[in-house]
Amino acid sequence: MLKGRRAVVTGSTSGIGEGYARALAGAGCAVMLNGFGDAAAIEKQRAGMAKQYGVEVLYNPADLSKPEECAELVHDAEKRLGGVDILVNNAGIQFTSPIEDFPIDRWNAIIAINLCSAFHTIRAALPCMKQRGWGRLINTASTHGLVASINKVAYVSAKHGIVGLTKVVALETARTGVTCNAICPGWVLTPLVKKQIEAKAKENNISLEQAEHDLLAEKEPSLRFTSVEQLGGLAVFLCSDAASNITGATITSDGGWTAQ
Ligand code: NAD
Repeated sequence: MLKGRRAVVTGSTSGIGEGYARALAGAGCAVMLNGFGDAAAIEKQRAGMAKQYGVEVLYNPADLSKPEECAELVHDAEKRLGGVDILVNNAGIQFTSPIEDFPIDRWNAIIAINLCSAFHTIRAALPCMKQRGWGRLINTASTHGLVASINKVAYVSAKHGIVGLTKVVALETARTGVTCNAICPGWVLTPLVKKQIEAKAKENNISLEQAEHDLLAEKEPSLRFTSVEQLGGLAVFLCSDAASNITGATITSDGGWTAQ
């Protein structure tokens, strides 16, 4: 379905980003991976995906806390893949603390990586997308882009910002063949959430299974995690013709979290 398209997925060496990258590659798209991790493991992932899906898969190590590296990532993909048709802004980090103790450097890092990087990559990618008259911008927001939770001031601020950014870009590109949407997952069992489950188990002196259940029960009526494969499917759908008039939308996959 996406044969001949070229995608950049930020933060795709792990979790949800890897799910997006695999789904897009599975649909025939060439993919530029990005993110941190062990160099040998990333190379194994890159080569494995290229072989499994029969598409070109490249890697760029840009640190998205740095504005110039965000733009360089896009320009490197344009050069090596011949263009960027699909940009998935997904890299993100988490830190939890009440606001009065929230470390300033964690606030700055979360705003830079979870929000500002999407501004910089979209800014770099849009001119060529507009010129070609086709583009798909997909931002990973979160239920925390729509509602809040305690102790997540930077994350919730960044994710609400991503939803605002998505809407402005959608309006500015409404007649250009480019769409811009935000995917808002509830809980997904990735390293980012596993850390929160471990912290909950330690804090309440309960088993990991109990902490996992409590985490879901607190927010997600379905009591089920969304899988990275399901989110990958959503991204592929947003790149399909069926979704060509969906823009400026927030699409939840949250087991009813934000229906409450
Ligand atoms: P993860 O920790 O598994 O993956 C995060 C990815 O971002 C990794 O590839 C990491 O290397 C990369 N990254 C981190 N800092 C970076 C930087 N400075 N430059 C480049 N890459 C960097 O986390 P995840 O759960 O897969 O989260 C992915 C996105 O989904 C995040 O934006 C997160 O906020 C969002 N999200 C996650 C959940 C969830 O329940 N896991 C729910 C809603 C939204």
